Amino acid sequence: MTGIRFENVSVAYGRHGESTALDSLDLTVEPGEVMALLGPSGSGKTTALRAVAGFVEPVSGRVFIGERDVTGLPPYRRGIGMVVQQYALFPHMRVAENVAFGLRAQRGSKAQKVSKREIPARVGEALEMTGMAAYAQRYPRELSGGQQQRVAIARALAIRPGVLLLDEPLSALDAQLRSGMLAELARLHRELPDVSILYVTHDQVEALTLADRIAVMDRARLRDCGTPQELYRRPRTEFTASFVGNANLLPVTVGAGSVSFGGAELKVSTDRVPSGTSATLCVRPHLVGIGAGPNALRGTIAEVQWRGATHRLYVDVDGHRVKADVRELRDAPELGDEVTVHFAPEDAVLLAGGVTGE
Ligand code: ADP
Ligand code: MG
Repeated sequence: MTGIRFENVSVAYGRHGESTALDSLDLTVEPGEVMALLGPSGSGKTTALRAVAGFVEPVSGRVFIGERDVTGLPPYRRGIGMVVQQYALFPHMRVAENVAFGLRAQRGSKAQKVSKREIPARVGEALEMTGMAAYAQRYPRELSGGQQQRVAIARALAIRPGVLLLDEPLSALDAQLRSGMLAELARLHRELPDVSILYVTHDQVEALTLADRIAVMDRARLRDCGTPQELYRRPRTEFTASFVGNANLLPVTVGAGSVSFGGAELKVSTDRVPSGTSATLCVRPHLVGIGAGPNALRGTIAEVQWRGATHRLYVDVDGHRVKADVRELRDAPELGDEVTVHFAPEDAVLLAGGVTGE
């Protein structure tokens, strides 16, 4: 079983290495783990993946695949499978030839070399795994986008890699195909429990659904890392709280055993922040209710969005905007209506420090 380890890895682009795309990344993907690298566009996710694949050289730090330091090795000697957003199949080769190509290109250790005789069986096995066995003789142009991406995955799996690198593999697909492919990837991972997967995405739903752990990236740096539940329920940074799940972030003042927001006293656990400081209260929109309840705040409706099964209400409270996602209302409030919002004490988390607007 092989994992991936980044040890203080920095990557810079530009002739003089003047733009840092990855800043001192320390991260371990355990053997058999699915780690999502989640972050906005330009945060350095692809760069991190390319450092594992060997397409960029770090300016400092080391990359390990299993126990092996691969930092200086060319890509084809690293024994990795990689799938990128654009299907990147060869248009003039049939599906089976595309998958076989990856096998022929391997020039790694003896264990990864595949004899000519073995290739058809390996190709068949990989296509079987991705449900594409019936399409072996087609050309890429005769396949849908989702099918092409399955072939790309088959090609990556054919070498029986210890680690699989996926860079936004679903982002070129439409929404319905995407959720089907997500389920497929989860199944593949169950069938290949020893393969470590590094999964790059800007889509929090993909990360929350698929990953054992999520590494949150922002501006070339790792900001947070934890299981989906940890990051969602108890984010450690404002960036995570707003990027994963779009949380409400409200400035509060913490006293001895008390938390106040504007003129209101709130009931919230204060075990994470020292008293006498300003802090940020984080509460998820779907955990904010309308009407009387604990931690009630009076406000004015600033915007109402109908989203089918739910209404998203924007409520101005003391000059701060609170988002509430509630079950579709028969009588939705109107702009300017006065409402009360509330949330349960256990549904809120305090983050040390004031709201920075990050
Ligand atoms: P992400 O995958 O999170 O969108 P990238 O790793 O692709 O981010 O890019 C991180 C930063 O590095 C961005 O600012 C991007 O513009 C820059 N960058 C990426 N590739 C190159 C390159 N080949 N040359 C110069 N700058 C690059
Ligand atoms: Mg990218």
